[in-house]
Amino acid sequence: MSQPDGQNNELSNLLNESRTFPPSAEFASQANATAELYDQADADREAFWAEQADQLHWETKWDQVLDWSDAPFAKWFVGGKLNVAYNCVDRHVDAGNGDRVAIHWEGEPGDSRDITYAELQREVSRTANALASLGVSAGDRVAIYLPMLPEAVFSMLACARLGAMHSVVFGGFSSEALRSRINDAEAKVVITADGQYRRGKAMPLKANVDEAVKETPSVDHVVVVKRTGSEVAWDDARDKWWDDVLDGQPDTHTPEAFDSEQPLFILYTSGTTGRPKGILHTSGGYLTQAAYTHRNVFDLKPESDVFWCTADIGWVTGHTYIVYGPLANGATQVIYEGTPNSPHEGRHWEVVQKYGVTIYYTAPTTIRTFMKWGAEIPAKYDLSSLRLLGSVGEPINPEAWIWYRKNIGGDRTPIVDTWWQTETGAIMISPLPGATATKPGSAQRPLPGLSAKVVSETGEEVPNGGGGLLVLDKPWPSMLRGIWGDDDRYRETYWSKFADLGYYFAGDGAKYDDDGDIWLLGRVDDVMNVSGHRISTTEVESALVSHPNVAEAAVVGASDPTTGQGIVAFVILRGGVDDAASGEAALKELREHVSREIGPIAKPRQIMIVPELPKTRSGKIMRRLLRDVAENREVGDVTTLADSSVMNLISKGLKTGSD
Ligand code: ATP
Ligand code: MG
Repeated sequence: MSQPDGQNNELSNLLNESRTFPPSAEFASQANATAELYDQADADREAFWAEQADQLHWETKWDQVLDWSDAPFAKWFVGGKLNVAYNCVDRHVDAGNGDRVAIHWEGEPGDSRDITYAELQREVSRTANALASLGVSAGDRVAIYLPMLPEAVFSMLACARLGAMHSVVFGGFSSEALRSRINDAEAKVVITADGQYRRGKAMPLKANVDEAVKETPSVDHVVVVKRTGSEVAWDDARDKWWDDVLDGQPDTHTPEAFDSEQPLFILYTSGTTGRPKGILHTSGGYLTQAAYTHRNVFDLKPESDVFWCTADIGWVTGHTYIVYGPLANGATQVIYEGTPNSPHEGRHWEVVQKYGVTIYYTAPTTIRTFMKWGAEIPAKYDLSSLRLLGSVGEPINPEAWIWYRKNIGGDRTPIVDTWWQTETGAIMISPLPGATATKPGSAQRPLPGLSAKVVSETGEEVPNGGGGLLVLDKPWPSMLRGIWGDDDRYRETYWSKFADLGYYFAGDGAKYDDDGDIWLLGRVDDVMNVSGHRISTTEVESALVSHPNVAEAAVVGASDPTTGQGIVAFVILRGGVDDAASGEAALKELREHVSREIGPIAKPRQIMIVPELPKTRSGKIMRRLLRDVAENREVGDVTTLADSSVMNLISKGLKTGSD
């Protein structure tokens, strides 16, 4: 990690955002969570979590809420037993809600399927029986390499039902990425599809599995869902069609109760910063916090809401806010298979209108893409059903937040900016939509029952107005239980920086504003050092995005002989701006704009107009690759990029402006 070499150890916090949006009286009066929840949690934290856990069905009640004696390895709800799939499926059928739609599934080519909780129970049971017939039992690992199909959800829940762990690998990853993840987890079975739809085209998927499993000794079976009907190579001994393995399987299955600490899944982090880590999550604590945050942050009313989280299930957001949180709460939700521009740029809004979506949760990158496409697109649809919007994955630039509220939320809906990580398992920092006056660009404060601090390099909490490092200073129910097979790396990565204090180091920079609200400033590795000032990439990017010509920006610090680092910005222009916007005069004006917004110290040395930015599959900008470009180096490892051709586009299409 880069350390500051100037004396100025604090992040320079320069940006000033003073707009606030209190919830309407109407929203506040019906909200699940009020401000009292903070007091209740503060009064007795463990009792608070016990109360949240009590909303699940436990076969055997726990006898200890938290065992932290072997820190940093936590145990929550010690001695308790439950079945996660029972909680997400059967429980709702038993309560008389079997006819409620669990999933409105919408395929990219326009096919669709509604799945009730009763049907979900039958599908998950058949899948669990099928996996058991292939030799999967408690403790085994199953790799899931599927597009956004109902079968992906059935497979995850079937694993949970059997006490087996799933390891979902994003369908956009290469065979090499898949192979290393299968081998690290030693998966027995791989579940995939013949192909997947991407932007209107059928793309092969099984072919990647064929390539990957050439060198995965642990894999006994590959189960293949038929989706696109494309030709696939076949190994009779190893490959089985999904329909064939499920055929004749009973649609009932008796769930076994497992220990609260039974491993539930391994998920490899996206690798924005380095070699992927197999993050391990377990059952009781994870499900408790997934359900609690989903109920309170999204104000979920299971009888009337239609929830839509646009993440891919290959990302932790898809695990917690498509599968486990919503289903544990008995929600009705939309799952959409495709990209937002297939077959047209209004697809998301068409889906919102079709199903009457009330809660919509997406990433800043998607919002900025919508900005780039233009506000006239959502304006063509009826979005009046929406009552709450959410954001996750990166700091949201204030301008993007305002655009989102105005053009999608009709200037009416609260927005929850939710900070969390694969490692935290569930949301940690977020407004409560009925209680918080929201601020564009700030995730604000830890949720009731959770704790986070902004501290200096030596671990002292910084005062209001100060910047530093984000830490989580108390264990939480859905915290990771380790890195699969590598306890040392777990200790080293997260717990060594503040070992004496016992803080979890999140790797993100943050600041407090004058009210004590938290602003996330990007990864610590991305913080720039210009003439001894530590400047956050996020703040400079937000200043750029606040210019009317700019849709999206990525900023890096490139080594500079005089200043240590110079700021280099990569900018995507908004749709509809004329050619002059990329001309020299306009770029000069853009640099001046940043200087006016933040201060001369933050003025970019150079601005490059680019058609795309390199992003991971979860939509995060890979600044290390842009740093390579800015420093004229050969571009590094691109295997976790969502689209690896982007780097060629950038190097080819550069138009630069500097003085
Ligand atoms: P890797 O750890 O392998 O580099 P990753 O960090 O991109 O991958 P995730 O766990 O999906 O993988 O992302 C978590 C990170 O995303 C956080 O540490 C933070 O940097 C960023 N993030 C998520 N939500 C927010 C948010 N609301 N505001 C600011 N940053 C966010
Ligand atoms: Mg991370």
